[in-house]
Amino acid sequence: MRALLISLLASSTLIGCSETLTPPEKEASSTPAKSAEYQRSPEVDRLIKAALAGTQAYDITESLTTEVGPRVGGSPEEAKAREWAVAKFKEIGLQNVRIEPFTMPYWERGIETAAIVSPNPQQLYITSLGGSVATPEGGIEAELAYFPTFEDLKNAPEGGLEGKIVFISGRMKKAPDGAGYGPANQKRREGATEAAKRGAVAVVIRSVGTDSHRFPHTGMMRYADGVKKIPIAALSAPDADQLERTLSRGGEVTVKMEMTPAWRGERESGNVIGEIIGSEKPDEIVLVSGHLDSWDLGTGAIDDGAGIGISAGAARVIIESGLKPKRTLRVVAFGAEEVGLLGGFAYVAAHKDTDLDNHVLATESDFGAGPAYEIKSGVKSGVSVIRAMGQAMGLPFSDMPTNGGPDIGPMSRQGVPTMRWQQDGTDYFDLHHTPDDTFDKIDKDEIQQNVAAFATMMWMASEADTNFRGDE
Ligand SMILES: [Zn+2]
Repeated sequence: MRALLISLLASSTLIGCSETLTPPEKEASSTPAKSAEYQRSPEVDRLIKAALAGTQAYDITESLTTEVGPRVGGSPEEAKAREWAVAKFKEIGLQNVRIEPFTMPYWERGIETAAIVSPNPQQLYITSLGGSVATPEGGIEAELAYFPTFEDLKNAPEGGLEGKIVFISGRMKKAPDGAGYGPANQKRREGATEAAKRGAVAVVIRSVGTDSHRFPHTGMMRYADGVKKIPIAALSAPDADQLERTLSRGGEVTVKMEMTPAWRGERESGNVIGEIIGSEKPDEIVLVSGHLDSWDLGTGAIDDGAGIGISAGAARVIIESGLKPKRTLRVVAFGAEEVGLLGGFAYVAAHKDTDLDNHVLATESDFGAGPAYEIKSGVKSGVSVIRAMGQAMGLPFSDMPTNGGPDIGPMSRQGVPTMRWQQDGTDYFDLHHTPDDTFDKIDKDEIQQNVAAFATMMWMASEADTNFRGDE
């Protein structure tokens, strides 16, 4: 990280103040060797410097996580977060601030306890996975059936686990881009279904995470139609280790678990929107976003208070600069992402017959507050503009495509062009969906580097001649 910031500062020093920049006409006629020394425009230079020297995202994230705290999709706390967002968007100077409401089924956590009953009685730290059914009253006490990995469970014959609690272990590997998450996540999403098919009465999984702290990681799970619904919980990594050591000594291991989560019926959620109206092409939209909801265990700082802070913070930098973007810059705080991208789908439903075709470029920050280290493109034309955004930030272009982020996926499938700043998420899954996702984990310089990147994207997409759709 330090190296990244130093290189960013070095490139800004190299470029120097805006008065010494080469005029645009000279840039256009520059030789290939010359154009390799990319020079950002005076406007972008100004925005980047203001973001790096500022505290916009840091302050907005601090405000959300302190004044609202945990905010599960559909909960009264998420409703409070929408009111917070409306007030914050207005405070920073966004226009057309509004809530686009939608309804959704609301799942609420209850009591959750577990313990080894025999051979060595002791408490275990678990948390219900989102969407799980409750245990019968009084809990479930049963012998463990151990599967080192989710693959091992899937390869087991159907039946044979009648009356057992299935324990699925399996470790997730750290990676800057979080590549280990997808594979590790399968046991969280499908573990209950695969265990129920084989007769089990409940499931515990080793948390989908990369830490060694005694915090279980929650996250959404799904039941397949036509398969019995059985309760599923995540164990903290040290508790999963403890069970594996206990099992390795041989003999039966009996565990008791009790959980009382429940679906509470239809509730309201919503997306909060604010804009900087374009000066020349107000109907053309550049969209930046994060998701407003969080899980209930922490205060949703890295997931995804940071994304709200980065998007709204970048808009604030542009407003404070006095620069007037040609296109409309729209900030969206999506509701109910964690429970199934409901805000992203609701946005498409609300906009597909009105302005979705006018969306020029869209992105979301939803991978913590770590520094951006490369830029990814999901556009059909104007790739050179995406590359130039990276160059302005001193960051390389990645050949990996992007759909712009979780909540952008649904609109991406409707043809909206996307890009994404890839953030360093090496430590993201230490905290993700745990009680440890709190504001103290955010580094001011790192989150502000993301603000610089977002402001760069917003300005350059607003000024570019392309519509990124390949039809100009
Ligand atoms: Zn998230």
